[in-house]
Amino acid sequence: MKKNVLLFSLLLTCSSLFAQDLNYFLPDSVTYNPAIPKPKDIIFHEVGEYHVTHDRLVNYMRAIAAAAPDRVKLETMGFTYENRPQVLLIITSKKNQDNLEQIRQQHVALTDPSKSASINIDNMPIVVYIGHSIHGNEQSGSNASLVTAYYLAAAQGKQIDDLLDNVVILFDPSFNPDGMQRFSSWVNQHKSKNLVSDPNDREYNEAWPGGRFNHYWFDLNRDWLPAVHIESQNRLAWFHKWKPNILTDHHEQGSNATFFFQPGVPSRVNPLTPEKNQELTGKLGKFHAQFLDRIGSLYFTKENYDDFYYGKGSTYPDINGAIGILFEQASSRGHLQQTSNGLLSFPFTIRNQFVTALSTLEGARVLRKEFLNWQREFYKNSMTESAAATTKAYVYGDEHDKAKTFHFTEMLLRHQIEVYELKNKVSADGTDFKKGTSFIVPSNQPQYKVIKAIFEKTLTYKDSLFYDITSWTMPLAFGLPSSELGAAQFNTGLLGDKISKAVFPAGEVVGGKSEVAYLMEWDELYAPAALNELLSSGVTAKVATNKFDINVNGNAKVFDYGTILIPMQMQTGASEKIFQQLSDLSKKYGVKIFGVKSGNVNSGSDLGSAKFAVVTKPSIAMITGSGVSATDAGEVWHLLDQRMNIKATHLEPGIFNRTDLDRYNTLIMVGGNYNEINKDKLKAWVQSGGTLILTEEAVSWASQSGITDVKFKKSKSPVDSLQKISYVEREQIDGAQQIAGAIFGADADLTNPLAYGYNQKTVSLFKANRVFMEKSKNPYATPFYYGSNPLQSGWVSKENKDVIKNSAAVIVNTVGNGRVINIADNPNFRAFWLGGSKLFLNSIFFGRIIDAASGRTE
Ligand SMILES: [Zn+2]
Repeated sequence: MKKNVLLFSLLLTCSSLFAQDLNYFLPDSVTYNPAIPKPKDIIFHEVGEYHVTHDRLVNYMRAIAAAAPDRVKLETMGFTYENRPQVLLIITSKKNQDNLEQIRQQHVALTDPSKSASINIDNMPIVVYIGHSIHGNEQSGSNASLVTAYYLAAAQGKQIDDLLDNVVILFDPSFNPDGMQRFSSWVNQHKSKNLVSDPNDREYNEAWPGGRFNHYWFDLNRDWLPAVHIESQNRLAWFHKWKPNILTDHHEQGSNATFFFQPGVPSRVNPLTPEKNQELTGKLGKFHAQFLDRIGSLYFTKENYDDFYYGKGSTYPDINGAIGILFEQASSRGHLQQTSNGLLSFPFTIRNQFVTALSTLEGARVLRKEFLNWQREFYKNSMTESAAATTKAYVYGDEHDKAKTFHFTEMLLRHQIEVYELKNKVSADGTDFKKGTSFIVPSNQPQYKVIKAIFEKTLTYKDSLFYDITSWTMPLAFGLPSSELGAAQFNTGLLGDKISKAVFPAGEVVGGKSEVAYLMEWDELYAPAALNELLSSGVTAKVATNKFDINVNGNAKVFDYGTILIPMQMQTGASEKIFQQLSDLSKKYGVKIFGVKSGNVNSGSDLGSAKFAVVTKPSIAMITGSGVSATDAGEVWHLLDQRMNIKATHLEPGIFNRTDLDRYNTLIMVGGNYNEINKDKLKAWVQSGGTLILTEEAVSWASQSGITDVKFKKSKSPVDSLQKISYVEREQIDGAQQIAGAIFGADADLTNPLAYGYNQKTVSLFKANRVFMEKSKNPYATPFYYGSNPLQSGWVSKENKDVIKNSAAVIVNTVGNGRVINIADNPNFRAFWLGGSKLFLNSIFFGRIIDAASGRTE
């Protein structure tokens, strides 16, 4: 064994360290069309000599498309946040290029059970989507795309002709252009002429937040299902336009590994994925093994990685009639790194990615009919299964939050799910779903599996280890009322018009211009954005800490806790101008604003009462930088900037320690460690009246640092109760105590300012940490808490289930004149947890009015 390892590393050193030219990567015995430019002609360096930047990558793809128009067509799918193009090459034979639209339509018809039976697949090309480096700092994939694109455009002979006649290749050279640009700049700028392989070198240790993420520090390989981000949205549109049979997802793993290809761990395949999917994955695996053997590269399979969460690129295709393939190459990170397997060079990693792109294409060519048949079968089976299912339809909609409902519908449509307006009122599970604000999704449609993946709650599992989260039930995540309808409740008469496009709610100022006051309900998703614009323009606003009933347009209307009051006599701006501003904001944010003619109420507090508390304009800073969870911080950034148009400063610890904090009244600290922060300075700032918002591990940090007095519960170790555990079981036992991510329902005190805008007593929160807070002794200081059976969906160990019972989800501490809001979980999880964003925004706007000591507001 040892000898083999030695030999292997020797091989590496001799033959694979430096790519002299393109021939290092390319197969022998193939001739190439000299009219096609080689990568170096366009990007100015050899493949693997530097990390290609995204700009140059795109230049090369354009050059290829221009030089080989018979084979290559270039499409721009859209643009990233930083306005980089997401390009897609469509590569196939000239004959296929000439009939491309016809081929596409015929291919897509295979996924339509009403048409697919009669389709003859004998001469139908298979469609393969080759995707690269969704994690920006795993660049062997995108760099290999230079070689693969060259090969596919330039290779000559029967073999390539055969391949291109039988395969339409959708070639995506970079799944994450912004991350790629960030990372390539880092490694290139730190590369020495004499390659330094010491893993401690700056080249191999990126500055925070690293290149893995997109612009907003999100992991795009978790976003295929929620599709929050522009990159995913653009890509999904093309995925469904073509419905590929295979999709590859080229990644990198730890530097001391070898190469992984799927199938992953069999017991961790999502139960919605049919067995045939894994069988085909295995058949394709034989081709990868064969091709890698040819160049002597070692690999492993069926370990570590899984096909459970459909938000990943290699798993999403599995419920869309396709096969997703994950590749994980050991990462050189920079250009040449010392590893436990010897020196690992960047060109070597690129070559493995190139070779497995070719093995995928060859497998697709050989198994073409089997994959096409499977796609047809998959959709046929989906219809059969859905016809037998007990749930006949899913109904959803929030009459209090139409923007959130809009976003949910928008997401369903991105997955080509058929959605209808609800024609008649339905009552289910104690909720009335009304016509006009509710929608219905019948189960009996081709995307049945995706519908289940989006709506279902899961409480039973085959395994206790997970690569990613264990549950993502989308209506719970959105905090959206939703119910399953069985045969007794469902009939097609409930189906109104089919939705072709989600429509953003129309806002308006009801009751017209007022000289007295305007009221804005807080339930709507974008009410905080509207409030922030008002405060930023100098408008005075108050928040109702009581319910009240007042006449609007002559009719009595009840306004809930958290209603925003804009009293006109307290404004410095002209009333005409404010009316215009409110009218604009109502449309921009889809909110209703009500003009009232009198401050006198029918019941509750009059509008001049002290029960209306002045809202201070937040001036926000979030601590970012080394030690802080970049994805947690990115979720806050995305929520505030993209959704709410709220500005926040991102403060590095060094800047925090030396700057004057008086300019901020709100500080945010998300999961992570904050060892470099000056604790005394932070505490003094809170004591002088600041609002400190903590999530996840920052809650523990603040308590340990003496800033709060939050106490924690500890879970029992399972080892105590087990008689004997063998060494080999340790991974399973330890892993099972992690909380990979599950959904818990917290009970909310709807009268507490932190719960303003919620209408349901149970608020679903997402937990992926081991922070368990003891309830505060002060009954008013725990506005969100977990009851005796809070698990709604997902997997947690018995020990963790026990400890989370009767723990606090949110605790408010009074520290001097300031407030600390401790949120044990992540209210903004991956930006699709819209059910938590109100809690987070309430902390920002209303945190300072809470008097936690007495339960009263100031
Ligand atoms: Zn990755």
